[in-house]
Amino acid sequence: MSAPLVSPRYNIDTLAEQLLNGHRAALARGITLVESKKGEHREYAEALLTKVMDATGKAYRIGITGVPGVGKSTTIDTFGSNLTAAGHKVAVLAVDPSSTRTGGSILGDKTRMAQLAVDRNAYIRPSPTAGTLGGVAAKTRESMLLCEAAGFDVILVETVGIGQSETTVAQMVDFFLALMLPGAGDELQGIKKGVLEIADLIAVNKAEGDGLTRARLAASQYRTALHILTPRSKHWSPPVVTISGLANVGLDDLWSQLNIFKERMQANGDWDKKRAEQQLSWMWGLLNEKLQTALKANPEIKSALPDVEAAVKSGRLPATAAASKLASLFGI
Ligand code: GDP
Repeated sequence: MSAPLVSPRYNIDTLAEQLLNGHRAALARGITLVESKKGEHREYAEALLTKVMDATGKAYRIGITGVPGVGKSTTIDTFGSNLTAAGHKVAVLAVDPSSTRTGGSILGDKTRMAQLAVDRNAYIRPSPTAGTLGGVAAKTRESMLLCEAAGFDVILVETVGIGQSETTVAQMVDFFLALMLPGAGDELQGIKKGVLEIADLIAVNKAEGDGLTRARLAASQYRTALHILTPRSKHWSPPVVTISGLANVGLDDLWSQLNIFKERMQANGDWDKKRAEQQLSWMWGLLNEKLQTALKANPEIKSALPDVEAAVKSGRLPATAAASKLASLFGI
């Protein structure tokens, strides 16, 4: 047996044991460790993840996106509380690389989810602070695994539709839910077509009282828009539902849809296949990042790069020849 990894603050064996027993403080410390930017913490984070790996993978991983103001936090608060009342343990994580706030992002902020914030069967963690999307997402993926190891069986990963963050989150979850505003109009509120392409379900929010008619109209427009897209899976056509996160309307139906999806995908094997593909592409993504870093840090590459780049820019050197030249300097 190798000696336990011990640092002044972290005894990994103890931390793993406490985390597996569902200690919230241990989970928080574990996440702080995976989020740490200190090089020496990486080794501890990886040791911790390896130790708890067998206890991961049992949760339903759900991504939630939508423009600011659509009602993400309100809906997560209500939906998550419904789930904890039904005996689930719900973790809320976030991916928000645009965040520049110190100490965390506005996404996944406890103050936005008043009920869940005081619910002992819920755990809310804001997005890791600003960094590259890949970096932020990698930390959220690792936090997700720690939450699963700590016994959380529903993981909600919140993101805003900025840049590539939606696609990135869709690649780390089992089910991707897009919340939409009930605003009518053929512009579909400027929602990028890309969101419709990756969503497993569209929920038009604020469908209560005066908003109900508008929400239903918007829902029928989304159904039309979805019809012209080729579904990603032959086993699933993304449904469009109307909900009210505020009034807790339609959220039971939403959960039923999620369960139908899960049962169907588990039965046809796509569930495991998707997860396996996600893991592999994550590994390759990380490896590519490491290779890039090593490449750019290589002294020969560093000294050759300005001239090679200038030659490519001015059209003196074909990009293919430049790539070959740099690769051979790197020894590949
Ligand atoms: P987020 O920015 O997407 O997290 O949106 P919030 O959850 O903060 O909600 C934005 C605003 O919309 C707040 O004033 C909420 O009270 C309101 N809101 C959220 N959900 C609903 C809903 O279902 N119905 C109505 N009428 N208002 C809602």
